[in-house]
Amino acid sequence: MPEGHTIHRAARDHRRALAGQVLAVSSPQGRFAEGAGRIDGRRCLTVEAYGKHLLYGFEGGATLHIHLGLFGRFRVRKLPVTEPRGAVRVRLVSTTHVVDVNGPNTCRLLDEPETLSLIGRIGPDVLRADADPERAFRRISRSRAAIGRLIMDQSVMAGIGNIYRSEILWRQAVHPETPGRAIDRETFDRIWRDAKALLSIGVRRNAIITVDGAAASRSRYGERVNIFGKTRCPACRGDIRRFEIDGRRTFVCEACQPLQAAPVGATS
Ligand SMILES: [Zn+2]
Repeated sequence: MPEGHTIHRAARDHRRALAGQVLAVSSPQGRFAEGAGRIDGRRCLTVEAYGKHLLYGFEGGATLHIHLGLFGRFRVRKLPVTEPRGAVRVRLVSTTHVVDVNGPNTCRLLDEPETLSLIGRIGPDVLRADADPERAFRRISRSRAAIGRLIMDQSVMAGIGNIYRSEILWRQAVHPETPGRAIDRETFDRIWRDAKALLSIGVRRNAIITVDGAAASRSRYGERVNIFGKTRCPACRGDIRRFEIDGRRTFVCEACQPLQAAPVGATS
């Protein structure tokens, strides 16, 4: 599953390749032939990322909605147009570039009300300048659910994936099992700011880098993250505990991230 920075980076690349241009749109694989036919020959006005969703706005009000899911991927190339590789669900061709989308979880057209409704269901995206963190804090501060679950719930706040979750909570000394309602405003603001900073680095460098000063190109993965996939805490040298939240691996240093409030599910 791509994390939020991957989708924002794709939005940036696709915006440069497509926005402002009349596009030839097709579905080489055939499964999106009807939808492609409806936007073929129309001008693409915007390409925007909201969490893990990509929205391509077309003249006339139609929006192409792509969510890659687990197996989808994008390919962007300069012209000339070449034979499609694999099952290309939708192909977008401008005067300079070809963008292919293979195997997306979602590929459909939305009208304006449907687009607004989708955006309203996605939590504020830490990478968007227009995001309202207050919306996320309201949800978190009223919830008994673990903060480690809430910050990855894309309807609460959008963008954070599995690796960033463990890394951000470690950097901010917050135990992932802390109930949302035990997170005060100051702590939430630190989490939000750190997520924004780290994901912005991810967009710029095209890599998950959560160790301050690590280089994307020279450092191996293990040198770019602090605790994800590790057994020893880089700060205190203590053991890293590994457990699962909703079936996804989570890591915590219980010395650096003490659980201060009652754990989720405990009766008071
Ligand atoms: Zn530690």
